[in-house]
Amino acid sequence: MTAPTNRSAWEMDRSHALHPWTNFGPFEDQGALVITRGEGCHLWDDRGNRYFDAVGGLWCTNIGLGRAEMAEAIADQARRLAFSNTFVDMTNDPSARLAAKLADLAPGDLNRVHFTTGGSTAVDTAARMVQYYQSCMGRPEKGHLVARDHSYHGSTYLSQSIGKRPGDRVEQFRYKEDGIHHLSVPNPYRAPDGMDEAAFCDHLVAEFEALIAHVGADRIGGFFAEPIQASGGVIVPPQGYLRRMWEVCQRHDILFVADEVVTAFGRLGHWFASWDEFGVQPDIICTAKGLTSGYIPMGAMIFSDRIWQAMAADGARWFTSGFTYAGHPVACAAALKNIEIMEREDLLGNATRVGALFETRMKALEALPLIGQVRGKKLMVCVESVADKATRALLQDEADVGKRISDACEAMGLMVRPIGHLNVMSPPLVITADDVDFIGDTLETAIRRVADDLAREGLV
Ligand code: PMP
Repeated sequence: MTAPTNRSAWEMDRSHALHPWTNFGPFEDQGALVITRGEGCHLWDDRGNRYFDAVGGLWCTNIGLGRAEMAEAIADQARRLAFSNTFVDMTNDPSARLAAKLADLAPGDLNRVHFTTGGSTAVDTAARMVQYYQSCMGRPEKGHLVARDHSYHGSTYLSQSIGKRPGDRVEQFRYKEDGIHHLSVPNPYRAPDGMDEAAFCDHLVAEFEALIAHVGADRIGGFFAEPIQASGGVIVPPQGYLRRMWEVCQRHDILFVADEVVTAFGRLGHWFASWDEFGVQPDIICTAKGLTSGYIPMGAMIFSDRIWQAMAADGARWFTSGFTYAGHPVACAAALKNIEIMEREDLLGNATRVGALFETRMKALEALPLIGQVRGKKLMVCVESVADKATRALLQDEADVGKRISDACEAMGLMVRPIGHLNVMSPPLVITADDVDFIGDTLETAIRRVADDLAREGLV
């Protein structure tokens, strides 16, 4: 069908695009907000309105938008070599250099890199690598996977089956259920009655041990964990939890797969959070997002020499998995420049320093009406609204509290992401102390307004 000319982007989008997580009803009515420009932490829409993007794109614009040297690095590489595949025994210069750089930055013996197109494909490949490795070790039955409730690991069939955010499990989709097990979400705010953090941690570790006893250590091959569960609600696990879960994995030859799609590249002030923040040495790290700061799509799976050696022991084997755009030279050039900028400007240091201010300022929002808990670390924070602070009871769905708060913020030039009754934030690493004040003051005004509106409507 020939489209009429001079239609607005808004109109063309509304008529033809299916967005991820589209809510069909409101989309038909309102269409989408058209963003036309980005610089640093700011976005502009097609009407010229400016917003501070505290969402950081989607946990990803770590070095901030609009960097000319990123555009130049991408253009230079596109001119020199826009594409060459990395299958079998081919490579290209940026891909080789990035693999070496990631091996250098990753903890312990994670010296091997397999490039993917994004986070979902990294997790998907990691799941299959777990099974491949265990088979190579003479344990073909050890292919079951363990993950946690409320986790998000991506949108391929397998990565979405490993994740389990309640709202995503719609009846229209099928999920792989055999061979994938889910443990409780390690959310101390919603621990079973009366359990303090230490008791809750014991409970969660015991649950993992019980699952292993039930399914059989000889059948469970890998454990998948985001160090902090991001879109499940910025869930910071109890103190010591990740390390104890890792110790359980080690005892039973279960590979620990850290999904660091969000937590790597400075969001928590480190290249990778598993070891530096939580003292865990994973067998596989999946990453994406901050790897290129969203300038171009790419992901990576970084895995141990031990896994490589097991897979390579019989030189006749093939690792029969790979994406056309794996090790894409332009994406790798963008990642290398992105890492160079982070190093030169000490953005990990800034994330640590300003992240501490951000945490403190956001925590102060707990004194406001509606706010049950503010949690997170450094530049990863979530504000949880409740109907009753004492019982922690949730508001009714029709209150749509997260969306109301984000709409109120948007009207004042601030973007925060609504997820049900939560609002999550992951601002770029270039954030300043003044920006923290702006976010804090704006959110405070928005929350007070929404609390008044809800009270007037009898919803709290
Ligand atoms: N893992 C985590 C923890 C994520 O947050 C995401 C994306 N939000 C993914 C995996 C999937 O990454 P992608 O969208 O790049 O496929």
